[in-house]
Amino acid sequence: MKGALWEGASVLAQGSRSMSQGWEPSLGAWALAGMESEGSVAHESDVVGSGVKRDASPHDLGGDSDMNPELEELELLGQNKQLVQLNPRKKKKVVKKWRDEWAETYKWAYVAVHEGIHRIFCSVCKEYGRKHRRNPYGNEGSRNMQMSALEEHNNSLLHKEALRLQLASKDQGMGLIDRPVYIKALISKSAEFILAAVLHRDPHEGEFIQAVQEVVHSLDPVLSKIPQFVHVLERLVEPERVVIFRVPWVDDKGEAHVNRGFRVQFNQALGPYKGGLRFHPCVNLSVMKFLAFEQTLKNSLSSLNIGGAKGGSDFDPKGKSENEIMRFCQSFMEELYRHIGPNQDTPSGDIGVGPREIGYLFGQYRRLTSQYETVLSGKGVPWGSFNLRPEATGFGLVYYAKEVLADLDKDLRGLRCVVSGAGKVAMHTLEKLIAFSAIPVTISDSRGYLYDEEGFDYGKLALLRDIKLHNKSLRDYTKSYTKAKYYDDSKPWSVKCDVAFPCATQNELNHVDAMALVNAGCQIVFEGANMPCTTEAMEIFRKSKILVGPCKAANVGGVAVAGYEVVQNNSRIQWTPEEVDMKLQEIMKDIYHKSIKAANDYGFSKGNPQALVHGANIAGFLRVAQAMLEQGCV
Ligand code: NAP
Repeated sequence: MKGALWEGASVLAQGSRSMSQGWEPSLGAWALAGMESEGSVAHESDVVGSGVKRDASPHDLGGDSDMNPELEELELLGQNKQLVQLNPRKKKKVVKKWRDEWAETYKWAYVAVHEGIHRIFCSVCKEYGRKHRRNPYGNEGSRNMQMSALEEHNNSLLHKEALRLQLASKDQGMGLIDRPVYIKALISKSAEFILAAVLHRDPHEGEFIQAVQEVVHSLDPVLSKIPQFVHVLERLVEPERVVIFRVPWVDDKGEAHVNRGFRVQFNQALGPYKGGLRFHPCVNLSVMKFLAFEQTLKNSLSSLNIGGAKGGSDFDPKGKSENEIMRFCQSFMEELYRHIGPNQDTPSGDIGVGPREIGYLFGQYRRLTSQYETVLSGKGVPWGSFNLRPEATGFGLVYYAKEVLADLDKDLRGLRCVVSGAGKVAMHTLEKLIAFSAIPVTISDSRGYLYDEEGFDYGKLALLRDIKLHNKSLRDYTKSYTKAKYYDDSKPWSVKCDVAFPCATQNELNHVDAMALVNAGCQIVFEGANMPCTTEAMEIFRKSKILVGPCKAANVGGVAVAGYEVVQNNSRIQWTPEEVDMKLQEIMKDIYHKSIKAANDYGFSKGNPQALVHGANIAGFLRVAQAMLEQGCV
């Protein structure tokens, strides 16, 4: 019954999208809209439906019904009561429906900090009250049926998971959590056991737990089918080595500063560690571990023989002089050089680390070791970098998107694309989207976002690059293109679009943004940044049948080309940009097909909007897990 109401609300919400904005999404009757997904229809539509119930009446939305929504709900309740009376079997169906629908809800725990005290709930408790005597569908069903559903819930793994986390936090303190963390409880005991160990060890590492959760959830069917991988996964979620070091440096005024440096060498089973260095104030152990863990699976998915790592510092290059940046890089390398080498670990760039920083880091490495060797990728092209390395992540992202769309009989041409970020990945994404006649309409940075309704072209892109190069505000663009609009302190997710490319940073897209994207008509999200969507946002996409191209697959281009850079430097032959571009396209195509196959093999059908997420996790895991199994317990 309520499901029917929600379905109605969902239809209204879809109506609102095109009517309130007076705009027809260019994807038209998008094939994904009819995609099947894991759960029932009622359950799939509840997010959209609940948004409509809270925010607008059917009149605002331009829906067909003239009826007061509360009356409409009552009428539907009445209809359902009659149905139950007419058909006793309906009772069983009701319980089954709760089970099906709650099954998804059961998977979430919620950790919040209230007035300095950590409170941990399962999401059912959070939503329906600690005792939740009523079921989420009102008074449907007898009291006995409601109590049995409650009992089932209290015995659920989720509830236990939340309690375990609560205990762990008492033992170790959770001072570092400053915002809610959602935790997915797991279906099988083996997966639950692995996650419990991670939670117990590092309960305060929100980003790392988030990344592990997503992967372990995808791997549940793999672990059931191949039990020997349970112990492999247990080892895989613990980094092989973590180096934390002091980075002292002196500014231009002669004042001393100290930052913290990191290198997390996560897994070397497939080859020397590889992964970027990030210089940004957000850097801490949790962020480093999540990035290194993701990198391990991503590198495995790329089919290259490289392991996974990540490093960096909480140093903020913004506002620093050229000399200060050079001195910081030299001090950082003073320690890092002991832990890296061509057959050991070959870092590259990430946020805040581009060819300039890589140049300073390489200079200091060479000075300390007297070796001119391939240890850092992302260098300047004239002295050893690879053609197309700077472009590879953004170009690869668009090649991946093209491949996914082609499989849906769609094309990028004419699609309105919302892009976030204004760094290396975002700019090259924009460039390739323009090349494929898509219409990129936004770009953003840490200060706000820019919206050009007519879309960017190469001339406009050159202006944007110039603005960012000189560290000016994106607002300056509107001086040359007066129809464009700049919004301070805002994100671009409410702009009407067909496709979204989050390319700035982790967790930049939360549940509110996800709702905004759904309402803006977005049908598909391709992740350029690492883990740009929060767990809650992913859940909203799943329920709204928005297809997600996950970062583990979609942004592999950069590391894949960096892998080739090592081959090139060792052979001392320079490949042409065209040769590299061909290889990049092949890699992205291969990654897409590998992910889809893995998803299908383990029961996630192509029609499932999260098939690509599960497929990338499974395919990435299987290769590295097999190598770990064959190399023994090390
Ligand atoms: P970048 O060149 O430093 O650019 C990052 C952009 O994101 C900048 O425009 C920055 O704004 C913006 N940004 C950073 N934090 C933000 C926040 N909290 N809110 C809004 N905007 C924010 O970095 P990048 O190399 O493009 O990397 C972007 C993402 O892609 C990261 O998640 C990275 O891990 C991932 N990635 C990069 C590569 C690569 O090859 N570079 C490969 C794979 C994945 P400002 O300009 O104002 O600083």
